Amino acid sequence: MKDQCIFCMIAEGTIPSVTIFEDDDFRVMMDINPASKGHCLIIPRKHFDNIYDLDHETAGKLFALATDIARALKEALGCDGMNLVQNNGEIAGQTVFHFHLHLIPRYAGDDVKVGWVPHKSDPDELKSICEAVSARLSSD
Ligand code: AMP
Ligand code: ZN
Repeated sequence: MKDQCIFCMIAEGTIPSVTIFEDDDFRVMMDINPASKGHCLIIPRKHFDNIYDLDHETAGKLFALATDIARALKEALGCDGMNLVQNNGEIAGQTVFHFHLHLIPRYAGDDVKVGWVPHKSDPDELKSICEAVSARLSSD
């Protein structure tokens, strides 16, 4: 539990939330300012600032849970699609600095904006980025 972290307080129940699901590791709650009907957040109970902090075990369980929540949202709401969004750092739109995954159901004709402008790539740059990142991945 990190001091003054709103999602830590929500996770432990000190601050109320509209909770869809909870277990020992996670709370899944409705987003208070939803982008669309059914927009919800998966938050680990344990505090992680962002994806760089998240451990493999929590990450694995979190994504498995996301598949269950996504299917339940689709069945309950009949949405036409779904975006999973996860922001890290202010520049990326993170406003709450406790890791969370957004599930945003999509409906034909909705006004949700998730996206980016595609740029033309430089093959040499792609290759050098690829090598730099690849070199930092361990095989274990
Ligand atoms: P992000 O911008 O990715 O950090 O997302 C933070 C999200 O948390 C936003 O979509 C907010 O609407 C949502 N949020 C902030 N406070 C609460 C709260 N008390 N209960 C539910 N959702 C919240
Ligand atoms: Zn926290």
